[in-house]
Amino acid sequence: MRKYYRFIDGLRKFAKSRMEPDEALALARSLLQKRIAKREDNFLRLAERSIFQYSRSPYLPLLAAKRIAFGDLKAWVSKYGLEASLRTLEREGVYFTVDEFKGKVPVRRKGIKFVCEEGMFDNPYLSFVYEVRSGATRSAGTRIRIDFDYLHQRSLYDAFLLDLHGCLRAPIANWFPVFPGAPGINSSLRFAHIGNPAERWFSQVAEDQVRVNWEKRWGTKTIFAVHRLFGCPLAEPEYAGLNDAARIAQWASQALCEHSNCVIYTFAASAVRVCIAAAEANVSLKGARFLVTGEPLTPHKKREIESTGAVAIPVYGISEAGVIAAGCNQAHSQSDHCHLYKDTTAIISHQQVVPNFDLCLDSYLFTSLLYESPKILLNVGMGDFGDIDTEGCNCGFGELGFDTSLSNIRSYEKLTGEGVTFVDTDFIRIIEKDLPESFGGKSTDYQLIEEEDSKGFTHLQLLVSPRVGKVNESEVLARFMMLLKHGEASPESWAQSGIEMWQQSSMVRIRRDFPVCTASGKILPFQLGKRSNQLTKYATK
Ligand SMILES: [Zn+2]
Repeated sequence: MRKYYRFIDGLRKFAKSRMEPDEALALARSLLQKRIAKREDNFLRLAERSIFQYSRSPYLPLLAAKRIAFGDLKAWVSKYGLEASLRTLEREGVYFTVDEFKGKVPVRRKGIKFVCEEGMFDNPYLSFVYEVRSGATRSAGTRIRIDFDYLHQRSLYDAFLLDLHGCLRAPIANWFPVFPGAPGINSSLRFAHIGNPAERWFSQVAEDQVRVNWEKRWGTKTIFAVHRLFGCPLAEPEYAGLNDAARIAQWASQALCEHSNCVIYTFAASAVRVCIAAAEANVSLKGARFLVTGEPLTPHKKREIESTGAVAIPVYGISEAGVIAAGCNQAHSQSDHCHLYKDTTAIISHQQVVPNFDLCLDSYLFTSLLYESPKILLNVGMGDFGDIDTEGCNCGFGELGFDTSLSNIRSYEKLTGEGVTFVDTDFIRIIEKDLPESFGGKSTDYQLIEEEDSKGFTHLQLLVSPRVGKVNESEVLARFMMLLKHGEASPESWAQSGIEMWQQSSMVRIRRDFPVCTASGKILPFQLGKRSNQLTKYATK
């Protein structure tokens, strides 16, 4: 019972302490500045308490094996700086790849071997508040505990970001699936907290299409009730399927009659749908700001969004640390260029071989610097990779000292479409075992190819080799979707919304063709389609 009491108490305080937009902005400015100045101290304080002094920390065996004590780390940081110290740790084997972090493979370093568990990385000093699932299926879906203090911290970035784009007080609409997906409920709470609650919450999935347990249902109802009670009602989710994008376009065009800007926070592909609907209705979206997340803002998607006069702003988050980078208002050559929120996160890159794609690439390793972080991350990979640059920029982020930018961000571990993410392990068994058993052929007769069409939509082609002979294509497709829905994915998981959205968007299509082999002649369960051009520079030699 205590946990419910703490939940309600935390929620009540959170709702009561909401700010006015200007107040939130002023607080954001002063706090971000302070944290940038104290970045290294904050890191050391967190590392000392939640790693070196926490006997169950998963980092301790790695540090002990190399006899690295807190004093060493402290000396390195003061002498060489934070990133250089993180690189030293990485060279000494103090890091976790995404597969190690999720316990999919054992951690092996010289003389040590152990398996990680999900809970090991939880911040031990957070009071449990509420739980969300990351945007992926169970095997990937990390359980994330959200603390209201943490949400308060995150909401300050929203104030800063909205102001940077001239829309701190502009009307906001969210287009995200209903709970248990994290972005919808989290952004609703955060926007309300900075005094600009979302006017509407459209959901790509109807509430009765998702089965959630009573606890989550109760939690969500309580969040709404408490906010109503404190005079700050949150927009209730209203169903607008992917083919209903016109409704969001209509909302935006109405909002733009009365305001010079409006904000739509959604997945990149959903934003493209809104813009296509606006173009079809001959409606200009000049002044609209699309905050897009959940999947890469590719050049195609950006072009499609901006052709309506709107602006596309990439928001890059990882579920384990929330939003960690966002785009500014200056022109950059990379479509997904964003500034790292370096006061709370540090990133270095780590070279690793990715067997499923036959690639060697520089993956990102994340380190959390904020005391309220739900997970204690010290050089932890999340399956993402991309460019990291240090450069000045003539924008508000640049002025603040956010001089690290991320771009060309992709994942090697997940397949994402319409903002819905599935981890490759969900597919491997289906591709290599279930489909051959049901329809004939061998494991290498089936393959998934990820491609982006001319409008910027991602599709997955399910290749079925002609060697397999005659098959009923719609049966193969139905079986594939069924296995994805009922296989690894737990009934409560976010996967349910995902499958629903993939069905709405005809994400997966069957093609009769021979699976494609890699440069080294292997046939792997996945091929990255057009992305492989971009990836060849990483190809294993
Ligand atoms: Zn900038």
